[in-house]
Amino acid sequence: MKAEIIAIGSELTCGARLDTNSQWLSLEMEARGWTVHRHTTIGDDKQGLIQCYRDAAKRSRVVLVTGGLGPTLDDITRETLAAAFDRPLIQDDDALAHIVSLFASRGREMPERNVVQALRPDGADSIHNAHGTAPGIHLALSDPDCAIIVMPGVPSEMKRMFHERVCDLLPQSPQVVTRALIRTFGIGESDVERRLGDLTARDRNPEVGITASNAVITLSITARAESEEACRTLTDDVSTTIKETLGSVVFGEGELDVHHAVGELLVEHNIRVALLEGTVTGGLISQWMTATDELAAQVGTSRISSEPQAPEAWLDHAQSEAEQLLKDGIADFVIATSARTLVETDGVRRLDGLVAVIGTGVKRSKDVSMTGNLAIFRERAGRAALNELRLQLSAAAD
Ligand code: AMP
Ligand code: MG
Repeated sequence: MKAEIIAIGSELTCGARLDTNSQWLSLEMEARGWTVHRHTTIGDDKQGLIQCYRDAAKRSRVVLVTGGLGPTLDDITRETLAAAFDRPLIQDDDALAHIVSLFASRGREMPERNVVQALRPDGADSIHNAHGTAPGIHLALSDPDCAIIVMPGVPSEMKRMFHERVCDLLPQSPQVVTRALIRTFGIGESDVERRLGDLTARDRNPEVGITASNAVITLSITARAESEEACRTLTDDVSTTIKETLGSVVFGEGELDVHHAVGELLVEHNIRVALLEGTVTGGLISQWMTATDELAAQVGTSRISSEPQAPEAWLDHAQSEAEQLLKDGIADFVIATSARTLVETDGVRRLDGLVAVIGTGVKRSKDVSMTGNLAIFRERAGRAALNELRLQLSAAAD
């Protein structure tokens, strides 16, 4: 069933504050079987809000609204909701008593202005707010058939009200929604899509989405069915197809990054690595590989050098250093990254470097090159280096 979210507040639309409520609510709703198909972020604008509720009620079975329930003049959610559906605002005596008692418990008298917080559109119910002065509002419309549920904008109050009160007000969704993630590294987004054919077309069940972040391409498989088991069957089929089609570029499933996947392999097979990092990664790989004590135990040695060196000469030098480390039994594999070079042409900065994995009888190297941001370049290069080790280890296992 379809739900949508409206986040209200001019502080959101002007960019002063990020709308995090919508993201949080979407995840919560999806976990309860709802399809959140739209987010609207809107400023404190009377006509805009009235239109917004009316349109949303026609489109969605549930509309979740956050913000604008404060006592000040810019908090206009209550009055606009009442106006949108031609309901007068009436006072909710229980809500008012709660607000008065909340002030009393803080040793203060309630300012007259706060009385407005106890108003609700006629025919709607107040939603008790145990943690603040702004009650929520539950307006169940029959034509169109829609539940509009308003919660405070303050994220901590909104979250508690959602769990403590709103979940029980939501109509039961007849379906279950599940999401599984498959992570790939080494090919681009459009290549992944081309290889998968029409698997990523919309209006399929499960739906396969592609997102790219820091050179990791994630395929998210969203299944909708009457039970978890039916979702699993749908997902397993597609997941198997994706893994078979994409082969070794898939490095794992779920919430993980390349370094987690490599870390698991190192620990599982007790493989030790030495890390020789130049300015291309500048210690990022060491940071990843020492994130847990268990993983750090697999790091034989680690050093960071800021020495500039031309890539080819660097690779020869890294190789002889690596051979010594392998010979001395310090590590089974050496991961090395070069110094970076920066070329600026017509105002465009291009960063270049080389990463390598060296083992006994093994030498794999890869160019990394991109325009723009150093932090992104570094992340990408670090993943590229670890990915070479991953490919080497999985090739050896086959
Ligand atoms: P309001 O209920 O509109 O008075 O909002 C109270 C405070 O909650 C605002 O000043 C924001 O700091 C915060 N807030 C409101 N809406 C959101 C939102 N959608 N996401 C994150 N924070 C919010
Ligand atoms: Mg506001």
